Amino acid sequence: MSEHIPVQIVEVAEPSHKKKAASSDGHIYTRSFSGLYRNLRLGGAGFLFLLFFATAWLDWDGRQAVLWDLAESKFHIFGATFWPQDFILLSALLIICAFGLFAITVFAGRVWCGYTCPQSTWTWLFMWCEKVTEGDRNQRMKLAKAPWGPNKLARRAVKHSLWLAISVLTGLTFVGYFTPIRPLAEELFTLQAGGVSLFWILFFTGATYINAGWMREAVCMHMCPYARFQSVMFDKDTLAVAYDPRRGETRGPRKKEVDHHAKGLGDCIDCQMCVQVCPTGIDIRDGLQMECIGCAACIDACDSIMDKMNYPRGLIGYKSEHTLQGGRTHWLRPRLLGYVTVLVAMIGALVIALHERPMVSMDVIKDRGLFRENAQGQIENIYILKVINKTQQPQEYQLRLLDAEGFELHGKTRFSIPAGEMAELPVSVAMLADRPASSSLELDFELVDSDQPAIRSVARSRFVAPLNR
Ligand code: SF4
Ligand code: SF4
Repeated sequence: MSEHIPVQIVEVAEPSHKKKAASSDGHIYTRSFSGLYRNLRLGGAGFLFLLFFATAWLDWDGRQAVLWDLAESKFHIFGATFWPQDFILLSALLIICAFGLFAITVFAGRVWCGYTCPQSTWTWLFMWCEKVTEGDRNQRMKLAKAPWGPNKLARRAVKHSLWLAISVLTGLTFVGYFTPIRPLAEELFTLQAGGVSLFWILFFTGATYINAGWMREAVCMHMCPYARFQSVMFDKDTLAVAYDPRRGETRGPRKKEVDHHAKGLGDCIDCQMCVQVCPTGIDIRDGLQMECIGCAACIDACDSIMDKMNYPRGLIGYKSEHTLQGGRTHWLRPRLLGYVTVLVAMIGALVIALHERPMVSMDVIKDRGLFRENAQGQIENIYILKVINKTQQPQEYQLRLLDAEGFELHGKTRFSIPAGEMAELPVSVAMLADRPASSSLELDFELVDSDQPAIRSVARSRFVAPLNR
């Protein structure tokens, strides 16, 4: 049975590290750094930004490739169109993503937070803008303390302009997945946008600017629900960014050439680099903390110090609690295997469901009037058929009643519907028999594609007639 690692909230118990991480004005000024995990994050974030910003502008078959058309209640994704009836598949996809996140968290802690969460990736982008316009940590701290003058004003103005430009692009792109982006962008940049679209662009612009520019780690620490409950998913074999106190302590400064072990010192030279690069301003040497978003910046920073000191890397690294206690990490464990098995089964089921997705759907809505008598004196019921052609080509269909001896279908029984469109067809059914066995009978309508009989839909409705006519 796996055990949970209790998350240690150190903010109250050991507030001293906050003083080290933040400046006297309470702001966190992170130092720039380089290293393997930074490069991994840059690569991953670059790919995600490209995916987010570029996909909205792609076309497919003369239409925006990915568009959740709210007005038409359709979701286009490249060659496929999904209707509200298919949204069960979207729910399944969301459940799969949630399970994927659980599995990754059990395996490697908060990698989602550190590498791919939009809050973190946009914050890193905003921090890069800050570094470009105001300089590295010490320069920014100096600038913050400096009185307002042309230099400070110009740097701050450029920084906020960059932040705003990214925020507007983010807002426009996000809304552009729900309403066609090309006309939307034209309207926005010619100041003709209005109504609901403008409201949502401004909303997401503001949210991006505030969350990534001003709130940053506060969102992760105080607003994100995932940060709160993921600690229960950790077990003693979960890899998390951790400091190895058995190797690092006793910490303290020393000269490079000194035999520190002989002096009773561990490998931590207490340089504070791991604290100064931390975007949440914590000291990882205090242990696993809820504020840690698993970005691995402290690993890169500490590895560069270890290189300079000619010590082995990995004083801070991805470690499990078992490793930190001198044991070994168990890779194959029931909880992880359980998540992976469920995940694979759900992905398989989704693939089958997508493959078997009916390419035509039909709803039969019975007219509110119970029945009527037609010119031939037959009892007749009226129906409205809602037929959706889910293929990307126009299709011709044939309509008939299934096993309905004694009934006759009137109306258009052969019709075509353009690609990805819905049609409403009124039809009537007349009862040829004199007297029904019951006042309410079940009727099955069958719709078959004229060229591909495998594409078909059957819908059931009722036929109502008086018992004694
Ligand atoms: S970066 Fe490494 S050596 Fe420096 S204080 Fe942090 S843990 Fe110690
Ligand atoms: S402690 Fe390390 S991994 Fe955690 S947020 Fe700070 S820098 Fe990132």
